[in-house]
Amino acid sequence: MKWEWLRYTVWATAVFAFTSIISNLASSTLHTSYGMLIPILVGILTGVFLWQTKLKIEAHNEARTTELTQTIATLQDEALSYQDTTAAFHQSEQHLQSLLRLSNQLQHVNTYDEIITALTSEVRVILGYRSAWLYLVDEKHEVASLITYRGENIPTSLNEAFSVNISGDPFLEESLAASHIVVVEDARTDSRTNPQIIQELGSRTIVHVPLCLLDKQLGILGMGTFGDEGIKVPQPDQLDYLSTLANHIAVAVERVQFIEKRRQYERTLRESEERYRLLVESAPLAILVYDNDKIVYANPTAVNIFRAESLDTFLGKSFLEFIHPDSLALVQSRRQQLAAGERLEPVEERVIRFDGQVCDIEVHTSPIMYQGRTAVLAMVKDITVAKVMEAENKRLLAETAEYLQREEHLNEIARIISGTLKLPALASNIVHLATQLVDAEKGALALIDETGESLTYTYFCNLPPNFTSSARPKGQGIAWLTILTNQAIHLGDYSTHPQAQPEWIHMGIRAVMSIPVITQDTCLGTLLLCNTTEGKLFSERDLANAKSVGRQAGVAIHNARLYATEHERVEALAKTLAQQEELNRLMTGFLQNTSHELRTPLAIAMGYIDLIAEDISGELTVNQKEMVVIAQRRLHSLSQIVADLTTLSLFDEHLPVQFELVNLVELVEKVATDFHLLAKKASLSLQTDVGTIPLVPGNASLLWQMLDNLLSNAIKFTHSGGQVNVRLFQDNAHVTLEIADTGIGITPAQMNRIFERFYQADSSASRTYGGTGLGLSLVKEIVGVHGGDIQVESEVKKGSTFRILLPLA
Ligand code: ADP
Repeated sequence: MKWEWLRYTVWATAVFAFTSIISNLASSTLHTSYGMLIPILVGILTGVFLWQTKLKIEAHNEARTTELTQTIATLQDEALSYQDTTAAFHQSEQHLQSLLRLSNQLQHVNTYDEIITALTSEVRVILGYRSAWLYLVDEKHEVASLITYRGENIPTSLNEAFSVNISGDPFLEESLAASHIVVVEDARTDSRTNPQIIQELGSRTIVHVPLCLLDKQLGILGMGTFGDEGIKVPQPDQLDYLSTLANHIAVAVERVQFIEKRRQYERTLRESEERYRLLVESAPLAILVYDNDKIVYANPTAVNIFRAESLDTFLGKSFLEFIHPDSLALVQSRRQQLAAGERLEPVEERVIRFDGQVCDIEVHTSPIMYQGRTAVLAMVKDITVAKVMEAENKRLLAETAEYLQREEHLNEIARIISGTLKLPALASNIVHLATQLVDAEKGALALIDETGESLTYTYFCNLPPNFTSSARPKGQGIAWLTILTNQAIHLGDYSTHPQAQPEWIHMGIRAVMSIPVITQDTCLGTLLLCNTTEGKLFSERDLANAKSVGRQAGVAIHNARLYATEHERVEALAKTLAQQEELNRLMTGFLQNTSHELRTPLAIAMGYIDLIAEDISGELTVNQKEMVVIAQRRLHSLSQIVADLTTLSLFDEHLPVQFELVNLVELVEKVATDFHLLAKKASLSLQTDVGTIPLVPGNASLLWQMLDNLLSNAIKFTHSGGQVNVRLFQDNAHVTLEIADTGIGITPAQMNRIFERFYQADSSASRTYGGTGLGLSLVKEIVGVHGGDIQVESEVKKGSTFRILLPLA
């Protein structure tokens, strides 16, 4: 290297000297020895000049290579962060849309089955689970009942509801004890699950989300995978989504529980009415005959009903003696009707028995000829017991009606507020509905701000418009008292309370209920309901109703806040995305220009370096050869990158692709031969198994690029001693190209991203494998252009198989 300039100079000088000697000899004018000096000088100068030029070309090439590698690294980073933002944005937006959809659907559900249907369609879209289920726990927390199940791959036995003892099932026990989401990654190997059940069901991943409404645990929301669906664990940012989803489901579950309770009540009522009818119908019939009001005939049942000692004590008595004063008027009027020959309907009357007890009877009266005379036939049933039952029924009915009305009202409130996700609308709904529910004259909702130190009345009903009596310092007033103690305050006269505020007294506030608005164990604020009319108080039932609204409101506000946070995140992401989209546009433009601009100089540089490598400018020393080979390799990989970029920009611009009939067999063999040396150097065995297949319509140069990328990946990601197998075969209407390696493999998480532009599983600065992350995205585009399909199977540390299916003509 050090004396290289001399070699160039000697060569050049010799050439010039030789030409000059020849020319001088030819003209036979060799006058002076100075004549030789000029060509020698020119020779030296040319030699030095040539040597300098070669050094410059080398330096320039090196500089361009480094510069381009750096630019590509920066672009890679940008593209990856763009893809991350896009992914995060789409995910958040998907979560929001899903929660909105779910909350709309859940407003109309009446059964657990409808809940699970709404749920499964969402978890399938968002988390990819095809099965979901619902466990509800009993009040004592002893038994968990699988209420409903929806999914694929599940044994039919599971479609029926069943119950389990919680204490006998460690996994259920843990899920219920935990207030967070419990995930079993693989049920087959997790010691918490029951191996027998798991084997029977074929469960793989199980996710249990607690279903809580306020402090009440309703059960568990489950979802997961079965059998060959494999393992699927939720990502950390999907856990928030799942918790919010569970809140919505909890409200819906409570609604269905209420509906079930109502059905139960209605059933009890119906049964009780049925029993009443049965009792009346099966009561023994007493038969009496009166002649001129005197009893002339009585059967043994009549003797028994009236508790007569014997028939004799009964006969001859006037039946009017037995009639209770309550029924006397009725009986008299029926007597007259009967005398007038009218037809009588059966009636209920009250009689007094021989033993003095009052008894209810049902009587059918009609005229009869008895022993040749006109008499009256009375058929009597004792309905005393049935009457007691009827009264009980009525009481029950009234109670049920009242209970149902209250629950229905509360449920309606829960439905409305759980369906409102925007905080201002939600808060004002809460205040208005609660005010109506307890018939309060005024209402307000005060919420604690983020600092937890200040309380603001933002939403109110029937209070002066300038009422912002507002940000109260912590601890002052009954609202703060409610929040700090987490207890409702119920006052008949506000002004007598030690914490009463002058402005409220001035407004004439009298009866007050201050209700904590709670979610889980945190108090978010207070709901104030008040009357100004003197003597208009709130009942204990009003208090219970208001407390219930307070709890529902807490959950709904918590959900609305989560929704708002998510919404803000989506908006921020949308902004970033817009910026990054612009960057992406610039970057695509830059890439197109760069790849275009680089093609020619690169081709020239490669041409020169190939010439030098072929010793065209003199035999190279071993040292020089090594350097030239390095430069050649770098230039080759650069030109590879540029070729990939050019093809990608071709796709971006949607330029038409020329098709011809391609001989894939030849192509595969040619590319494989190119790679044999590389494989040998990496101590890998590269085998090809190529059958006879017809010509395939396609673009040979693109297909070559596709193969080149897949093979170079297979070799790059396989350690020495490994194997790479290329197979080409016909399969119905397809030609299948399979490239299988025994390399490092790809994890499921990476699998989702390998076809993204610039994605590399290891993109750290210290990464082990070279590359740009463009290869597979290009492969995907090429396969797409050919109307084909790409499939990947991979197992970490075992290897990967890429399968390309290309359609035949
Ligand atoms: P590059 O190979 O330039 O990094 P590609 O787009 O070709 O980019 O591949 C993207 C990523 O996919 C690689 O970085 C690697 O993590 C992974 N990958 C591709 N092929 C294989 C393979 N045969 N074995 C293991 N990982 C692979």
